[in-house]
Amino acid sequence: MQAKLQKMDPQIAEIRDLLSIPKYIAIVSHRNPDGDAVGSCLGLYHYLNQLGHTVRVVLPSEYPVNFSWMPDVEDITIYDIFQERSAEIIANANIIFCLDFNALDRIDKLGELIHHRSGVTKILIDHHLDPEPFADYIISDTASSSTCELIYQFICDLGDKSKITIPIAECIYTGIMTDTGSFKYATNVRLFRQMAELKAIGLEDFRIQDLIFNSAQEKQLRLLGHCLANRMEVLSEYQTAIIHLFKQDYADFEIKRGDTEGIVNQLLLMKNIKMAAFITEQPNIVKFSIRSKGDLNVQEICQKYFNGGGHKNASGGYMHTNLHAAIRKFKDILPLYRDKIIAAQI
Ligand code: 5GP
Ligand code: MN
Repeated sequence: MQAKLQKMDPQIAEIRDLLSIPKYIAIVSHRNPDGDAVGSCLGLYHYLNQLGHTVRVVLPSEYPVNFSWMPDVEDITIYDIFQERSAEIIANANIIFCLDFNALDRIDKLGELIHHRSGVTKILIDHHLDPEPFADYIISDTASSSTCELIYQFICDLGDKSKITIPIAECIYTGIMTDTGSFKYATNVRLFRQMAELKAIGLEDFRIQDLIFNSAQEKQLRLLGHCLANRMEVLSEYQTAIIHLFKQDYADFEIKRGDTEGIVNQLLLMKNIKMAAFITEQPNIVKFSIRSKGDLNVQEICQKYFNGGGHKNASGGYMHTNLHAAIRKFKDILPLYRDKIIAAQI
């Protein structure tokens, strides 16, 4: 035991001490939360609850409906809907965990509230490139598939692997599975080992896949058809394809932003397409969702031209302009990257 303690990462040892007495803990993640955001928050929530802490999860905006089965998801406070309650949680917290985002300005007003709580302990656990040093403890690993993979490791590093229950396993599996596109992208040896461990304690993996992916509404499939038939542009010369959506499309198909998850990946099904862009007109901005294959770095493109960032093969950003100008901007960039795109190894 002594030898193990000595080897423990000093950050982890300090966090373990902090968690040794009951605290009021807030867990927050990013706007338009995805499976990794919701999964990491709820996985950590269940674990910290077990340790006897009072835990609250706050998300800036609503989670997609296909995550509504997740254990205790109804306990999450949504900032956009319950601003006072969210502010109260941040104001009362002794510890704030920031999961699956790398800078406070990624979470808008909630980030400002956290920024103003200068005395409180902030712990960042994330796998995005370029984390900003706003937290007291930073557990950042860009080689990880997901924040959920890091949460699993975090619990193990704290010596509590045996505390991983089925609800925790379901949350962690959700984040790893969704961020890797069902184990296609950013995989590594550790995550498959973790998966084996989760399966060993009784995780019903297909049931979770079914709940998340086989739950589309008719309108989502019709929208996908519309995107592929009417909104897709293939720029073979640049091995790039684009799908765009107007505000009117959102209205016509009665869809929200979360309902379009995964559409961008359809473009990568095409042979020889290495970069895919989903460019959509939102109420106040135009949003970019960009994906690539192999060593083509779209994080660089999003950071440089679209106020954004993310990961090498999956990034996003935005522009304050109209949809046509945004598409034009994206196309103007392509000649600058043509050589890199063509040379990119898959
Ligand atoms: P998505 O395209 O699915 O919205 O996001 C892909 C990845 O890029 C996610 O990891 C997400 O956090 C990141 N991302 C998306 N939009 C933005 C943005 O506007 N700014 C930054 N920094 N990252 C973004
Ligand atoms: Mn993630």
